[in-house]
Amino acid sequence: MATRTKVGMSLEITHLGSGSRGNSTLLQSGESKVLVDCGFSGKQIEKRLARIGVQPESIDAILLTHHHTDHAKGAEIFQRRHGAKIFANFTTCANIGLDPVNQCKLFESLERVQVTQDISVLPVPVPHDDAENVGFIINSGTGKRAAIVTDLGEPTDELIRHLKGCAHISVEANYDAKRLALGPYPESLKTRIAGRGGHLSNLQTSLLLEEVLSEQTKSVVLCHLSEKNNAPHIAESEVLFRLDNWSGDLRISTRNGPEFSHWIGQEEAELITL
Ligand SMILES: [Zn+2]
Ligand SMILES: [Zn+2]
Repeated sequence: MATRTKVGMSLEITHLGSGSRGNSTLLQSGESKVLVDCGFSGKQIEKRLARIGVQPESIDAILLTHHHTDHAKGAEIFQRRHGAKIFANFTTCANIGLDPVNQCKLFESLERVQVTQDISVLPVPVPHDDAENVGFIINSGTGKRAAIVTDLGEPTDELIRHLKGCAHISVEANYDAKRLALGPYPESLKTRIAGRGGHLSNLQTSLLLEEVLSEQTKSVVLCHLSEKNNAPHIAESEVLFRLDNWSGDLRISTRNGPEFSHWIGQEEAELITL
């Protein structure tokens, strides 16, 4: 387990794992701990938290982007076992069969949600399949913002506006267009992934980052890489190719988290030594 130094007024962002087998990201501020998505089994989330010394009972809230199992699978069981509050929009809540009155704190897109004492988020809607998916822009009293956005067919102007100036951006780079086209998926699935309601390709992600990144953004994490239609070195080189003027920290979140943390209010990423 890594030794950590406490930093006042900071937000720590740790990817517990990402990809089609499950997604979850831990946010830790001075006062609270929040999961963005809970797409692993309850047991798997507990195991991944244990690796970084976080008690499951200390998680205050789970924020759900959308209802797909790779984002929401473990939310209800984690709530039942450890009492974390689930925040979701009405469609997501209904789609995973939660009672919107007793089991969920409902939020609306583009309305600020106070999740805990010192963490608030702005849910920004993004186009994705049959889901009412959102990306989250996170505020934690540091005066700087972080963004987590995955599962979108294309970036909207609204999303681009909110990503600009964020100190940290976690964004999906789901597939390499050539690998998807030549790969094993049936044509209908290929069309869906590449369509407006599907996922971002490495090229789309790199163009998005090229548009939103400035020196204010200190770190970027590429997430939700397809195991069949992408590879970390391909995603990384496609993005770096377009970002030669940007000097921040670029990392890839894989299915095997947690591997690293980023801090807002502290520029270096911290490697987790297990
Ligand atoms: Zn999805
Ligand atoms: Zn997903």
